[in-house]
Amino acid sequence: MGFLYSNALNLEETGLVQAVTSRRLDSKADRKRFYDQIRLRPEQLVYCRQVHGNKVWVISRYPETYPLPLTEADAMVTDQIDLVIAVFTADCIPIFILDTQTCSIGIIHAGWRGTYKLVTTEAIQSMQEHFGTDPANCLVHLGVSIQQNCYQVSQDLADQFERHFGPEVRTIDNKLNLQAANVQQLVNAGVPFESISISPLCTACRTDLFYSFRMERERAGRLVSLIRLLPDFD
Ligand SMILES: [Zn+2]
Repeated sequence: MGFLYSNALNLEETGLVQAVTSRRLDSKADRKRFYDQIRLRPEQLVYCRQVHGNKVWVISRYPETYPLPLTEADAMVTDQIDLVIAVFTADCIPIFILDTQTCSIGIIHAGWRGTYKLVTTEAIQSMQEHFGTDPANCLVHLGVSIQQNCYQVSQDLADQFERHFGPEVRTIDNKLNLQAANVQQLVNAGVPFESISISPLCTACRTDLFYSFRMERERAGRLVSLIRLLPDFD
């Protein structure tokens, strides 16, 4: 049996973090094998109630108790070692952030609504404000998500996106490039383009490996994406 996850390699190569997105975990046994493979206990995860907004939840102290979900938010940032922050997606983009200088991290759930509301911009600003992050020191990975070819939306929505992010985020037949709209937010905030990687895998094309809300609707499960700062001895 192969690995039940993919890694945010550009972040993990630093040795500072663990950053992964699960594959399909259809059974309890799959979920257990996934957590075993990444050496995590599921109860180590903290997460928020995702509402497709732009609110960022800052964790600057290790929570002693975890009433989950922590709050309503679509991004989390922290500088706490070993705290596992997670988002759940099926087509939306899980975005991983690592500031290699201050050793702070973030994770974002970015669908079209959050993207339109600039949730990625908000997450970077929040790291600047709370941890003194310089975006020039950030590495970012946009994880497995629906790719432009499979993401046709209404003319109205494509027009709105064009007004907001420019013509390069849509095609003439109204296919949206959500990844590009988030990369634009990162680059505008000062993250170097070459520090950003994007998974080419498409959730809608590969329902054998991942979940796609667009393809599977209510039957779709959710991929879990998580990041944590590793302790020095790890
Ligand atoms: Zn596709």
